[in-house]
Amino acid sequence: MIISMRLHATREEIENARARIEEFGYKVHSIAGEERVVIGAVGVGDVTACLESLEAMPGVERAVRISAPYKFVSREFRPQKTEITIRGVTIGGSEFVMMAGPCSVESEKQILESAEIVASNGAKFLRGGAFKPRTSPYDFQGLELEGLKLLDKARRITGLGIVTEVMSDRDVDLVAEYADILQIGARNMQNFALLKTLGKCGRPILLKRGLSSTIKELLMSAEYIVAHGNPDVMLCERGIRTFETATRNTCDLVAVAVLNELTHLPVILDPSHATGKRSLVPPLARAGIAIGADGMIVEMHPHPEKAVSDGAQSLDPKQFAKMMTDLQPYIGLWKKSRVAETVAAV
Ligand code: PEP
Ligand code: MN
Repeated sequence: MIISMRLHATREEIENARARIEEFGYKVHSIAGEERVVIGAVGVGDVTACLESLEAMPGVERAVRISAPYKFVSREFRPQKTEITIRGVTIGGSEFVMMAGPCSVESEKQILESAEIVASNGAKFLRGGAFKPRTSPYDFQGLELEGLKLLDKARRITGLGIVTEVMSDRDVDLVAEYADILQIGARNMQNFALLKTLGKCGRPILLKRGLSSTIKELLMSAEYIVAHGNPDVMLCERGIRTFETATRNTCDLVAVAVLNELTHLPVILDPSHATGKRSLVPPLARAGIAIGADGMIVEMHPHPEKAVSDGAQSLDPKQFAKMMTDLQPYIGLWKKSRVAETVAAV
């Protein structure tokens, strides 16, 4: 924070401001100037309350925040990328990681078939919702515990890691028992009770960007999880709501590059929810690799026409296999640039 005192503020006013900053737990680093005194304060604390309190004090002209409000997740705090290793697969490192599977877990047959298909085409994680956030209360809400057990079975057969959504803080322990990565859906990005509980869940988190959330808000939500004790957070761009109606959401592709500048956390792209249309998934996936995502989460269903949710954006097995093959040259280039970045950072 920088606190700029009024011209000719009295010594007492300056001392009072200084004392107030210290009461909030900050260190006063510099006091400078002939006529006007400027105070620099650093540390961790309730910045908003401190700024408000200072601005209300006599002799203070302006109190402003200078560093990002998200401290732990910022690149300034940690210049090297966070690497998260799950079942021997590292996300945020030198491998581009694919997560794929149906929108929802529907039946044993459907999820086991899906798992075989995504594993044999190079994906490392199986996605599938057992708890589903649906706009309508009359739509399929997920198989819940039964769905989690089916995901566990698929993991035991294929060795894939499991990524699945948790919607409520009440279910965190249950989902964490079965999942390797807990997905926080777009609609829950600012469910602060849930975010706090995730701090203690002992599992990596895939935090999806809210439908109308800014990049800063996404980072603040990640900060909640890290500040509450869990450093293993991945961020996911899944499209945001705009005036455009040609696609289900508008993919803010540059958010991937922006996030890579602002944070050390791995960034995952979801080209399925970002477009809502299966023909657009492979081209957006190519772009996501080129712009530097660490991985991708894609919807694939053995029979998209029968899917209970998100069939229109789900690739069928053939399309998924073709996309995975077609992406290989792009992944090759991605690896080269990742190596170059790592060398440059050392
Ligand atoms: C999903 O992954 O199926 C999902 C519901 O995603 P989002 O929260 O991004 O809408
Ligand atoms: Mn979906």
